[in-house]
Amino acid sequence: MTTDELRESLLMAPKNGFARISAEDRVEMESYCKRYAAFMDACKTEREATAWAVREAEKLGFQPFVPGMTVNPGDKIYYNNRGKSIALAVIGTEPLSKGANICAAHVDSPRMDLKPNPLYEDAEIAYCKTHYYGGIKKYQWPTIPLALHGVVYRKDGSVITITVGEDDADPVLMVTDLLPHLAADQMQKPLAKGIAGEQLNVIVGTEPIEGEGADLVKLNIMKLLNEKYGLIEADFQSAELTIVPAGRCREVGLDRSLLGAYGHDDRVCSYAELEALFTIGQPTKTAVCILADKEEIGSVGISGMQSHYFEHFMGALCRSQGVKLEDCFAASFCLSADVSNAFDPNFPETCDRRNNSALNYGVSICKYTGSRGKGGASDASAEAMGHVRTTFDNAGVIWQMATLGKVDQGGGGTVAAYMANRNIVTVDAGVPVLSMHAPMELASKLDCYEMMLACKAIYLA
Ligand code: MN
Ligand code: MN
Repeated sequence: MTTDELRESLLMAPKNGFARISAEDRVEMESYCKRYAAFMDACKTEREATAWAVREAEKLGFQPFVPGMTVNPGDKIYYNNRGKSIALAVIGTEPLSKGANICAAHVDSPRMDLKPNPLYEDAEIAYCKTHYYGGIKKYQWPTIPLALHGVVYRKDGSVITITVGEDDADPVLMVTDLLPHLAADQMQKPLAKGIAGEQLNVIVGTEPIEGEGADLVKLNIMKLLNEKYGLIEADFQSAELTIVPAGRCREVGLDRSLLGAYGHDDRVCSYAELEALFTIGQPTKTAVCILADKEEIGSVGISGMQSHYFEHFMGALCRSQGVKLEDCFAASFCLSADVSNAFDPNFPETCDRRNNSALNYGVSICKYTGSRGKGGASDASAEAMGHVRTTFDNAGVIWQMATLGKVDQGGGGTVAAYMANRNIVTVDAGVPVLSMHAPMELASKLDCYEMMLACKAIYLA
């Protein structure tokens, strides 16, 4: 054998996805990304993504889960977990004792949540105080247009949905930063301290109401909120109002090869899972799509992946087939669908380039996340990695390997560990992203599209 032949038969030769994708898939990729962008424009919070999933699922004949219901092959069911997370299933021809094929992504993203008593006035400017949610670089959030999204539970029991800042006719909100002329002290601080958490106060108004007394600007804002939504100040105490970047998902690059949006992490995998589930037809094993909440703060709480709601849903499906939930879990597979860090040539020192995902090389499979000696990682087995590798190859999915940064640089987590703790074989895989957790994140259209094909392959494995 020549060295060329040896090289070809023995060594990997990764190729850019654009050299591998078929002409038909190129066309499909563009239309897929338009649908994904529309989803991103409509969904910036876990509640909005859950509501969107419910609406679309119902159009396709999915039925709401009812405890005690009997399920048959082909049935399409969803469990709306209090409007903040959702699990959807297409019942397979094989019983659940053979296990389910699960894809689990999350629909929450880093942002700034209003505090329970947010509204105040200082120097005749009205502000809302926030507490950031998830891992943000605080200096990235001032001086960009922001929108208010959320719900308020009013004293009379009614729930008001509020969205301000997304329509072109809407005002936007903003956090200020210091002018460079006076920033001599600030500029000496490390990035982590240049903007403090208690400085992430959002300007909501400056016009005083006519009259006497204190806080006339704040009073005017409260009057506006009362006229438009019927709110009084105490209603903030039973609300989930959040500040997210205003604006739409945009094509990025002169060649339009990228999508820039708030919250690719992890709605890029969430949308991929949903569209794949909606288009697989009849699976052999039961296909389950999870869109979890609270991943960005540790998958805790009633809507996070550690919540027992998942057992409630899967347990009921199993019972209707006379199957023990433990037996179903033990035979199941889960793709923990979450983004990875794409290699960024501006910051090469943070990664092991030989083991980092790259834009346009497809879905990145991540054996382990974690930090400092794989701490906190699920660390998938060779067998589990082999299952994913074979499944993706057989389905023609373009994929690559990923690790999250070089050893001892940092790390991260996903829902993988919480699925694996349930005795479900689990592997992380997702879309490589640049500027992860920033107000605008970047992903390549090709990788977004391949993620949907990857989810389809898992559901049908
Ligand atoms: Mn994520
Ligand atoms: Mn994240």
